Amino acid sequence: MIKKIFFAFVRYSGLLRVWVYINRDKINILMLHGVIDHEADPSWNPLWDRLSRERLDRYLGMLSRYYQFVSLDDAVDMLSGNKRLERNCIVLTFDDGYRNNITHALPILKKYGVTATIFVATKFVTERSAFLIDRLDYALQSVKINGRKISVGDSSSTIQAASREEFKKSYSDLRTLFREQYQDEIVCTKKLNELSEDLEKESGKSLSDIFESDGWSGLLTWDEIRKTNHTDAEYGSHTVDHYRLGQLDTAEMSLQLDKSKLIMEKELGEVCKHICYPVGSYNSETITIAEKCGYISGVTTEPGLNSKGDNLFSLKRISFPTKGGDNECMLHLTGLQHYLAELKSRLRA
Ligand SMILES: [Zn+2]
Repeated sequence: MIKKIFFAFVRYSGLLRVWVYINRDKINILMLHGVIDHEADPSWNPLWDRLSRERLDRYLGMLSRYYQFVSLDDAVDMLSGNKRLERNCIVLTFDDGYRNNITHALPILKKYGVTATIFVATKFVTERSAFLIDRLDYALQSVKINGRKISVGDSSSTIQAASREEFKKSYSDLRTLFREQYQDEIVCTKKLNELSEDLEKESGKSLSDIFESDGWSGLLTWDEIRKTNHTDAEYGSHTVDHYRLGQLDTAEMSLQLDKSKLIMEKELGEVCKHICYPVGSYNSETITIAEKCGYISGVTTEPGLNSKGDNLFSLKRISFPTKGGDNECMLHLTGLQHYLAELKSRLRA
């Protein structure tokens, strides 16, 4: 309750506007994923929350009163000094290349004059396969799973699915356990795919059956990407396999950065400039290789605002909230909430 009053006070007292004014020379880059409409896509309901069309529309409307929307290309040029830095700039980026970015989000983006950058993982676009996070989600929901113990390496996890909230937590815990048990990123992905396959055999159902028409998990095709490139959106690389780059050896990391760039360039017929590190995982070697490959920027999942002169390969982004009240979300979207949380932990230390 106190928090709610605080959020409302900050927003309506003008403090939020002061915060945006103080940071007028910093660039705010937002991170989004899928955008859906529950009523239009009733076939199933993923455990990983997605942003609704209605929320996207409402918050872009609010943000447009504080910011001007610019493309990532322009933002990077401003941060590097190639272009004059404009005030109160905000950028929208979408990770993973869901088709709903075009079918559901684009009409709203157009309404506000937003040119977003969509990051695609090339293997999934080419092979027409769902992301593991969606595949396993669908597979878990297709069997009687409540109370089932799943072995993971030398540990196990029991899925609690009596309520939706418990199920969401169990799914998240299960993925965390896989990552802990299988430090090797490629082995971890293989093991998660094997679990999905076992569950699919048991239910006789697979997300691949509905993938192309599925509003949640369906991905853009190369044709759709080409058709919308520049007229509606811009595109960047999200690697080939969506592996966490920071977990890979040098050879595999290079391959993920280089090959995805080449594929993007072959498919789009133009230079691929930006890389988005899957799950925000990267290290200093990733930056060195990305630069060598010819990228001009790399976006992370570290929260915060970006200033001129910052390293262009560790650009911070603020996640677009899928739930929460308007006042709290506005504090979050403007970076103020993150700043206050940091300040609090600094004061405590
Ligand atoms: Zn991703």
